[in-house]
Amino acid sequence: IAGAARPEEGRFDRALRPTRLADYVGQPEVCEQLDIFVSAARNRAEALDHVLIFGPPGLGKTTMAQVIANEMNVGFRQTSGPVLERPGDLAALLTNLEANDVLFIDEIHRLSPVVEEVLYPALEDYQIDIVIGEGPAARSIKLDLPAFTLVGATTRAGALTSPLRDRFGIVQRLEFYSQADLASIVTRSAGILGIEIEAAGADEIARRARGTPRVANRLLRRVRDYAEVRADGRIAGQVAARAMDMLRVDDNGFDMMDRKLLEALIHKFEGGPVGVESLAAAIGEARETIEDVIEPYLIQQGFMMRTPRGRMAMPLTYRYYGLTTPAPGQV
Ligand code: ADP
Repeated sequence: IAGAARPEEGRFDRALRPTRLADYVGQPEVCEQLDIFVSAARNRAEALDHVLIFGPPGLGKTTMAQVIANEMNVGFRQTSGPVLERPGDLAALLTNLEANDVLFIDEIHRLSPVVEEVLYPALEDYQIDIVIGEGPAARSIKLDLPAFTLVGATTRAGALTSPLRDRFGIVQRLEFYSQADLASIVTRSAGILGIEIEAAGADEIARRARGTPRVANRLLRRVRDYAEVRADGRIAGQVAARAMDMLRVDDNGFDMMDRKLLEALIHKFEGGPVGVESLAAAIGEARETIEDVIEPYLIQQGFMMRTPRGRMAMPLTYRYYGLTTPAPGQV
């Protein structure tokens, strides 16, 4: 249930995305700061300074980038680090921007070094150097770009090279959402999709959404299916609870992947510390999936700890499985 957007979700994601800052639920500090920076830039008719947004998948990075473009009243272009394979790919995008536009690069930590090189002067001086021709005839020409705002998104700020990170004037970190914020996101989404939902139903979904709006919206759609087939279509608290029990999303919002990880941690590795590579091999997931998708929420909820020696289970993990926490040195 957790994880990045799947293709089928694209349509819903777009429909449910807030377009203005006023509709962006939660993240009060981020919203307040961006409101000020955006208003100031807009009043001066300048491009907003470059913005780096980091946080786990599904917390609203893309949404925020679009909100910024809307609030600035400028164009929005979107790409991602892995898609920009050659310097020319980036150059083509940059030279097509209009004054003060927002260029959004998702997964910016995955830009290749040669593409990153092109980005530096673009960010700093709104210029790019491009090489024309090959061999002895090759020459480099400088192109002026319009002023623009790069909004970069990454799941891990630590994965960015420091020259790149240093070129962002505004750096914002998105946090997991509170249950109240998720409940209002679910209620808002239900309104847009024409789903009847009771407050208790929204609360139930919010409680199990791993602090993540994308997960909340995904659960809402599955619970709606259940409510239509097994109930009268209306999402009451009980209906939501039964639907999510069926989906095996438990009271903590943990799904099968979460439980697989926690179980490996306590049963196969005696609570750790264990390296992330070993954990990944044990549960058959990619290391990146563990680091970006699964463990941030488990760590935030106090079910797991990241130490220099590896991942460790916490007392809550043992309690969750009805076990007693082994005393230090006992395992
Ligand atoms: P990310 O880019 O961080 O992976 P997205 O911006 O794609 O996440 O958000 C995923 C979905 O969650 C969006 O389609 C949107 O409907 C919803 N969403 C995200 N943040 C918010 C928010 N603050 N308020 C309401 N809905 C949100």
